Amino acid sequence: MSLLNKLIYFSRNVTKSADKHIVTTEENRDWEHFYRNRWQYDKVVRSTHGVNCTGSCSWKIYVKSGLVTWEIQQTDYPETRPGLPNHEPRGCPRGASYSWYLYSANRVKYPMVRATLVKAYRNAKARLGDPVKAWESVMNDAEISKKYKAERGLGGMVRADWDEMNEIIAAANIYTIKKYGPDRLVGFTPIPAMSMVSYASGSRYLSLLGGTILSFYDLYCDLPHRHRKPGANKPMSLKAPTGTIRRF
Ligand code: SF4
Repeated sequence: MSLLNKLIYFSRNVTKSADKHIVTTEENRDWEHFYRNRWQYDKVVRSTHGVNCTGSCSWKIYVKSGLVTWEIQQTDYPETRPGLPNHEPRGCPRGASYSWYLYSANRVKYPMVRATLVKAYRNAKARLGDPVKAWESVMNDAEISKKYKAERGLGGMVRADWDEMNEIIAAANIYTIKKYGPDRLVGFTPIPAMSMVSYASGSRYLSLLGGTILSFYDLYCDLPHRHRKPGANKPMSLKAPTGTIRRF
């Protein structure tokens, strides 16, 4: 401890108890309100997480003024059968920190597009007037095509609006169908266990166009493909996202 800190420390206004085990200080403790406010809540609701997860864990969500303040695992799972341990507490660190992500400044809330690509598209559309022709012109321009692909992984994304993005997506889909055929459209929407509506909408869209629908394991890339090695006489074991082992 420095001399200055020693002087400050030993000159504090303190009162000691008779046995000298308790010291009472007069310092300002207003800062503690911030800590207490941080953990206050109006109500507790039951929910789970839609973070590209099956959302199978039950959580207690503490809410204050309509905002999630913190969360903790539920511990009221029904007993599966006598002699088997309960599932609780069930949940992962990603879920436990989800309320931070919910309000993070880094959360993506708007469509983002690579600046080089969207600039090239806008220029082409101003010149040609038609979205599909504009996209075709960008795809067939070797220099621009090479430039925006070389920038992948390097950032350079800018905020866009949904109308323009939907137009580009539609133009790109039509261009691909015309040039390569509808079965070259490959896509996937969020996992069925998380949201049947969002999953069904994307699957229906691809089905109507004649495209190819991927499974969510293809999207994650965190599981082996469902095939057996030639000559293997045992089924593959897959580790499912919820931590269980499945056999096929
Ligand atoms: S696995 Fe994790 S993210 Fe998914 S519901 Fe459970 S706690 Fe939430």
